Amino acid sequence: MKLTIKKQLTNNVLEVEIDERDDKEALAKATVFMQKDVCGLCKSDDITWESNKGQNEKGSFTYIKRRCNKCNATSTLGSYKTGGFFWKAFEIYNPNPMAPIGTVQQKPIPGAEPPMTEY
Ligand SMILES: [Zn+2]
Repeated sequence: MKLTIKKQLTNNVLEVEIDERDDKEALAKATVFMQKDVCGLCKSDDITWESNKGQNEKGSFTYIKRRCNKCNATSTLGSYKTGGFFWKAFEIYNPNPMAPIGTVQQKPIPGAEPPMTEY
């Protein structure tokens, strides 16, 4: 099955073509682009897609994220080992979750987050 998805992203239209022999697999791969871009924390639909690269001892990774422009929460794109993607829940990245509330937080270092979890 061949699928073409046109997704409106801020001022751009993302056109994705999925060509997959297995119909269900094609639909599974399409779902990530069909989800509504709404922040899971503040419900804002002011969402920007962005990417950055990170590196650890296992190699370099490309992160695709949806960032909420209202509360700054991000939802990272995860990938299945068998192919296809899924969106992780929106969360506000906290580099030091053990720090007591009210202390000065370190600025997150770009790319210092753990790599995408594969399921
Ligand atoms: Zn938000």
